[in-house]
Amino acid sequence: LDPTNDNFSEQENNIEKALRPQLLQDFTGQPKLVENLQIFIQAAKRRGEALDHVLLHGPPGLGKTTLSLIIANELETEIKITSGPVLEKPGDLAGLLTNLEEGDVLFIDEIHRLNTVVEEYLYSAMEDYRIDIMLDTGPNARTIQIQLNPFTLVGATTRKGLLTAPMRARFGIDCLLDYYDLATLIKIIKRSAQILQVPITEDGANEIGRRSRGTPRIANALLRRVRDFAEIKGNGTIDATIAAYGLDALQVDSQGLDEMDNKILRVMIEHFKGGPVGLTTIATAVGEDAGTIEDVHEPYLIQQGYLKRTPRGRSVTYKAYQHLNLAAPGEEGELF
Ligand code: ADP
Repeated sequence: LDPTNDNFSEQENNIEKALRPQLLQDFTGQPKLVENLQIFIQAAKRRGEALDHVLLHGPPGLGKTTLSLIIANELETEIKITSGPVLEKPGDLAGLLTNLEEGDVLFIDEIHRLNTVVEEYLYSAMEDYRIDIMLDTGPNARTIQIQLNPFTLVGATTRKGLLTAPMRARFGIDCLLDYYDLATLIKIIKRSAQILQVPITEDGANEIGRRSRGTPRIANALLRRVRDFAEIKGNGTIDATIAAYGLDALQVDSQGLDEMDNKILRVMIEHFKGGPVGLTTIATAVGEDAGTIEDVHEPYLIQQGYLKRTPRGRSVTYKAYQHLNLAAPGEEGELF
């Protein structure tokens, strides 16, 4: 099971859709961000203008796509969805842009992966709602300017640091999504359980929430898997016992760290004396892509206090030794 993987089967995709909140009021957590968006959306609607461009950034599975759909819903406009790597040439982008109606939302996921040519093309579209289109090639080549309908670009990225400065500057609204705390995850899990019509106890929701890496997508994925255990191995209700049983079987540990999280910590301790060690060295040692470690694993390990960044590389903390039941340097023998 890899809940962070987007390749769910079609049926799972439909469930995903059903679980997605449709309006800001159904979006649980991120209160500051939601409150601000509510105001900006209301103001834009009252003035009859397109909402300013919105940048959503934060680790995968925290609700960036969901929010972009909600923004369009709240604005009562249409949304076109694409992603950075898909837009290979300016023509791909021009096609999308010229089809936008006034006030529509264009969502570009992984916007840090736009190529430079397309990105530069986007600048004038964002700034002046205008693009230059090249007609013909060779001696007949000429450009014509096309005026676009005012629209809102919503860009999502896991790595704001990889966006160019001019790109960043063109977003009027900048939203950072943070990991969800346990209480919020429990709310999300109970809401999802209700939609899936699976009975769940408070303790059951707590057990799943605690192991969801602060991430709604993982919470929902674990809920669906635990539901299977509850139906086959239990009486259909998700309580703490069946949740713990199911999650252990899925190798999600009691602190919510997944196999790769644990592997990273273990390798750093066993092969690199706990660090400092560079990201690419860690990536090679655990056999995972450096980008994935930086986007998915590292932020959570840092937020949870297992890992820290130092000028000379990454180091594990005392908590990591404790978690893996290994002796920290300077200690005699095993910890426990
Ligand atoms: P991202 O685009 O950041 O990777 P998504 O928007 O695809 O994340 O969210 C992943 C899943 O988590 C969605 O299916 C959605 O149902 C759920 N989700 C995300 N944020 C929330 C939230 N605040 N409340 C309820 N469910 C959420």
